[in-house]
Amino acid sequence: MNHNLTWHNMDITKSLREEQMGQKACTIWMSGLSGAGKSTIANALEKRLYAMGKKTILLDGDNVRMGLNSNLGFSDKDRIENIRRIAEVAKLMNDAGLIVITAFISPYRQDRRNAKRIIGEDFREVYVSTSIEECERRDVKGLYKAAREGKIDSFTGISSPYEIPENPDVIIDTEKMGVEECVDQILIQLHPIFEKSE
Ligand code: ADP
Repeated sequence: MNHNLTWHNMDITKSLREEQMGQKACTIWMSGLSGAGKSTIANALEKRLYAMGKKTILLDGDNVRMGLNSNLGFSDKDRIENIRRIAEVAKLMNDAGLIVITAFISPYRQDRRNAKRIIGEDFREVYVSTSIEECERRDVKGLYKAAREGKIDSFTGISSPYEIPENPDVIIDTEKMGVEECVDQILIQLHPIFEKSE
C-alpha cells in the first residue's frame, strides 16, 4: 500500500445512510460448490427482501467475472484476488447502506476469512452444503462432465479443493428443502439483522 495515502473521514456516515434507508447494512456471503444453488437462492432471497422494502444488491459469480473481474482466471492467485475485490466492493456497498448478497464458490477458508476481515461486523456466512454427488447429478452448466473429461483445469470439487466453512452463520441443505424454504431458513436465522433499522 502507498504510504502517502491518508484516509478521509466523510460527514455523511454509514449509520446516517442506514438511518435514511431504514435498514441495517450487511453482506450475506453464500459459499458452496458449483451447482449447489447459490445463485438460485440468492436471487429468491433478494426478491423476498425487495418485497419487504429492503434495498439490496446481488453480486453473482459469473456476472462479476464477466465485468469487474474479467481479467482473472481460476489459478490460486486469481481466485484470491477475485474474492478480495468482491469483498472490497461488498464493503463499499455496505457503506452505502445496502444489503449485499454474494454468490461465489469462494472455496478457500483463508479467502473467506479475508472477506470477513475486509467487510467486518456486517459479514454473515451462509454455507450452501449441497454434496458433490448432487451437484454433479444436477450439472446445471455441464461443467462437471467437462471437468471429469479433463477439459477444465482446477475445477472445484474435482481437481481443486473446496474447504467446508468451519463456523457458518447458516447452513442450507438444498437436498432436503425447496428454494423458498431455503430462503425462509436464511431469513429466520439472520432475522435480527433484517429487523434492525437504525
Ligand atoms: P450455483 O450458483 O451454486 O452454481 P445454481 O443456483 O446456478 O448453483 O444452480 C443450482 C441448481 O440446483 C438449479 O438448477 C436449481 O434449480 C437446482 N436446485 C434444486 N433444488 C434447489 C434448492 N433447494 N435450492 C437451490 N437450487 C436448487
